[in-house]
Amino acid sequence: MAENQLNGQQVLLLPEGASRVIGRDAQRTNIAVAVAVAGAVKTTLGPKGMDKMLVSDLGDVVITNDGATILQEMNVEHPVAKIMVNIAKTQDKEVGDGTTSVVILAGELLKGAGDLLDQGIHPTTVIRGYKMASEKASSIVSEYARKVNVEDDKTLEKIAMVSMGSKNVGDEQTKLLLSRMVIKAVRQVMDKEASGKVVVDHDFIKVEKKAGGSVANTEFINGVLVDKEVAHPGMPKSIANAKIALLDLAFEIEKTETDARIEITSPEQMQSFLQQEESILKDMAEKVKKSGANVIFTQKGIDDVAQHFLSKMGIMAIRRVKKSDMEKLARATKAKLVTSLDDLSSQDLGNAGMVEERKISGEHMVFVEKCKDPKSVTIFVRGSSEQVVDEAERSITDVIGAVSSAVIDGKYVMGGGSIEIDVANGLREYSSNVGGREQLAIQKFADALEAIPKTLSESAGMDAIDTLVQLRNKHKTKSGETFGVDIFRNSVGDMEKSGIFEPLKVKTQAITSASEAAEIILRIDDMISSRGKSHGAPGGMPGGGPMGGMDSD
Ligand code: ADP
Ligand code: MG
Repeated sequence: MAENQLNGQQVLLLPEGASRVIGRDAQRTNIAVAVAVAGAVKTTLGPKGMDKMLVSDLGDVVITNDGATILQEMNVEHPVAKIMVNIAKTQDKEVGDGTTSVVILAGELLKGAGDLLDQGIHPTTVIRGYKMASEKASSIVSEYARKVNVEDDKTLEKIAMVSMGSKNVGDEQTKLLLSRMVIKAVRQVMDKEASGKVVVDHDFIKVEKKAGGSVANTEFINGVLVDKEVAHPGMPKSIANAKIALLDLAFEIEKTETDARIEITSPEQMQSFLQQEESILKDMAEKVKKSGANVIFTQKGIDDVAQHFLSKMGIMAIRRVKKSDMEKLARATKAKLVTSLDDLSSQDLGNAGMVEERKISGEHMVFVEKCKDPKSVTIFVRGSSEQVVDEAERSITDVIGAVSSAVIDGKYVMGGGSIEIDVANGLREYSSNVGGREQLAIQKFADALEAIPKTLSESAGMDAIDTLVQLRNKHKTKSGETFGVDIFRNSVGDMEKSGIFEPLKVKTQAITSASEAAEIILRIDDMISSRGKSHGAPGGMPGGGPMGGMDSD
């Protein structure tokens, strides 16, 4: 409990039951928590990293190698742990890959900071040093970056394969198949602005999944796969050269909102009332027909009677389609979303070579495919079990992130811990030009980066210290600049030769987020938790994510 003395009188700052940790104790605890969180994901790094199995209270099982997923599923309580989880989430959102690395890096930065605090260096000095190091590190990474353009199949394939490499999704051939699908998808949905700037909106690469078959059966769809069924059994199940209307309206009689009641006093009146309703619905179906559409997707419902008329006219209808799917359908088929049937004309319709309902593992799904130059595509993931498709989906999402970052920035660097050695060497050199105690923080920053090659070599059963020494020396020569941990040969090796490439953005984002998180955590010297209030971590989050937003996605 927090108590202060004022003229001999006790002043209570906090209500009874509240707890408080101040100063070095707070920092020590927070650093320990961050290091523990990093420790939890460390063993999963790289292609020889292990998987984690997470089991929920309800018995749901997740098997994964993905840093962000592991942390999210772990349901951590401590506010500092939540900050660590959030940096993984930010990394996931901003780049889609490098989530384990960012957490390891943040953990190492804090461990290093802990050493400096123990030596009596003030946290603000450490923070200042880390800031300088982080800026310098980003500029060093960029100096080493190489160019890649959208057409460069070979390089993009390598970037994709490395990103997929650490995930357990099948043999090399399957990984290559998935990598190629992702590259095709990114190319298909990207836009090139007049300035030459490339924009890729991940949302338009839909990753749909269904257990069944094997990962090698994963399909690329030139269009959108909608997890819905055709509304009425009498409707066609397959339409070639589809003319598609996208609607945001209900095929239902609008219920009056006022209290007006209709008094029906005779069977004849009832009959005429029903006929009137029927004719309104028939009229709606006819408006669709008149537009020339033979397939409709609507966000809202379709009354049974309307379904009947639509099916008699040979129109395929899919109802209650998600808004996000409607947007994808619009980009894929070039249809315009219409909110009133009176406005629907042939010009609003989109096209697809084929719209077909198929039964996949016992469930109906609607394939809108063979679209011409679609700006929205689907990767339909298959696999022998829920766990397998889930992990395949996660790795495909990572690869989409990696490939699009590479395409957007047009830059990549050498993986396998190679770039981290370059940056660490560069930082050590830089630190000698920086006077004062900040220099020590910059050196700690360099050490933290080396945790990546260190962890990779440990995962391969190599001696981490020997590997580091060899790599540091190699990197001092021009011909050794591209050396990193050759996981599969258990030695140091040329990453350029083995094609271990990673997007520049994965590295710059990880460096920035990790050092921002370390800063936030180091600034805390007072942890107060009061009864009845939920734990809110102090400070803002890098990337602007909400604090403790564990269950927001
Ligand atoms: P993250 O979530 O940080 O992306 P990963 O488990 O995907 O973690 O591991 C990424 C690290 O593994 C990167 O440092 C990358 O360079 C390295 N890596 C991936 N494939 C190889 C490989 N074949 N040889 C050496 N290092 C690799
Ligand atoms: Mg990765």
